[in-house]
Amino acid sequence: MLRPSEPHETATRFTTSSLTRPTRAFPPFPLRLDSIARTAVLCALPLFAACAESSAPQPDVLLVTIDTLRSDFLSTYGYPRKSTPNLDALADQGAVFENHYTTIATTAPAHATLFTGLFAREHGLTKNGQSLSAELTNLPNIFREHGYRTAASIGASILGSKHGFATGFDDFDEDFGESVLRPSGKSGKYERYAQSVVDRAISLAQKPGDRPLFLWVHLYDPHEPYAPPIASPLKPEDNLAFFRKRAEPSKTYNRELLGRMLAGYEAEVYYVDREFGRLLDAWDKRPTGPNSLVVVTSDHGEGLGEHSYQGHGFLLYDEQVRVPLILRLNGRVNAGTRVDAVSSAVDFGATLLELAGIGDLPGFRGRSLFSDSGRLTRSKPVFAERRFFTEMDLERSDALRKLTNTYAERAIGSIGEKCVLIDDGWKFIWNESGRHELYHLVEDSREAANVIAKQAARAAEMLAEIEVWRKRESRTQADEEPADSETESMLDALGY
Ligand SMILES: [Zn+2]
Repeated sequence: MLRPSEPHETATRFTTSSLTRPTRAFPPFPLRLDSIARTAVLCALPLFAACAESSAPQPDVLLVTIDTLRSDFLSTYGYPRKSTPNLDALADQGAVFENHYTTIATTAPAHATLFTGLFAREHGLTKNGQSLSAELTNLPNIFREHGYRTAASIGASILGSKHGFATGFDDFDEDFGESVLRPSGKSGKYERYAQSVVDRAISLAQKPGDRPLFLWVHLYDPHEPYAPPIASPLKPEDNLAFFRKRAEPSKTYNRELLGRMLAGYEAEVYYVDREFGRLLDAWDKRPTGPNSLVVVTSDHGEGLGEHSYQGHGFLLYDEQVRVPLILRLNGRVNAGTRVDAVSSAVDFGATLLELAGIGDLPGFRGRSLFSDSGRLTRSKPVFAERRFFTEMDLERSDALRKLTNTYAERAIGSIGEKCVLIDDGWKFIWNESGRHELYHLVEDSREAANVIAKQAARAAEMLAEIEVWRKRESRTQADEEPADSETESMLDALGY
């Protein structure tokens, strides 16, 4: 069973507004006033300008997924150095979702969620090297069915045609030629710099045609190794002062190592922002550019020493699961909007479809982050998960072996399943070991103090809620399905 038949149980919408939107009528949703997250001051404010149905053409859509981009390294999200001037400019022109979460901190499963509106346990792609099922309703197919030309330029072959991600695209550029190698020594065959991805994307965007265009651009650069092709103009300095808000030097990651990781990652973020700026300049010079929908998000964040871990996919703390979401649609989304309400990538696809005037569709678990009245929906509980990890997985990974020697995993356990529920400012991490965690994100943004013993009633309530979510869909694809040898080589080269 690949398609869920139930709507999102926890969806919440406002229904009162005089604004009009060119969308179909929505079914009634239950209103849950008990699940308003941390802050929702903007929930009652309209994000859209009024727009008459008859005058709304289908906008071109530029979707940029920047791999491994944690939101707190963007200056528009509060990073203290000017790391992302081009993304900041986009943010000023549109809406920024301050508390946005991926559903799983692994590249292919997270992108599958963006394209299908399903959790990994529902779409069945739970780890890299597996393939997106052609049976699922997916975003590019929907755009194509609604008259769009669909095109993509990607930065890593985990998201290539071999793994089902070219489905629905008229043009799909995945040419990882020798001239565009990344310098990691062995991975050049499977990835390429943003400069190359953007060059190809600009060519695709400039291809003549009379249909509206849906263009997906995937930039892989912030992923390890932290080795951009240009030097960052952000001069080396002691940026640990900012970072200390999230991580302290530890036995595993001393001050020097932390500083090196930070500088390398920051330089990657700066580089990928520069290339994004080049792409957006070219995009906006097209006649339809200024009135297009531009969306930037990421598949997951990156641990940089927090919780004694570097990388992503294994833990569910914010550094790995909290990602940017920025969107611009001139004349529809008010410039400078900042959304504090918690939001999830499971709602991403439906949001895009609604903004493009297509509306949401059967087969999508997610629901648009905007109501049919043009207002942001209230915060609702957000779920995320990681794939099942075995003893053998831990043995094979340097990072995981290091982690199992630290306090965090000795205390919590590392084998099996983990999932998380974020609601009303609280974060509950469910661990297969039974040693669950509870953090108050407002008071403890570093997720350092597990207060599950002190907050027993809240913990019991959240445990019950997450158990319901866990049981809703059983996993549909075996986690241990063997990969072929070429896929194994790719995963090894990319560092998985
Ligand atoms: Zn990724």
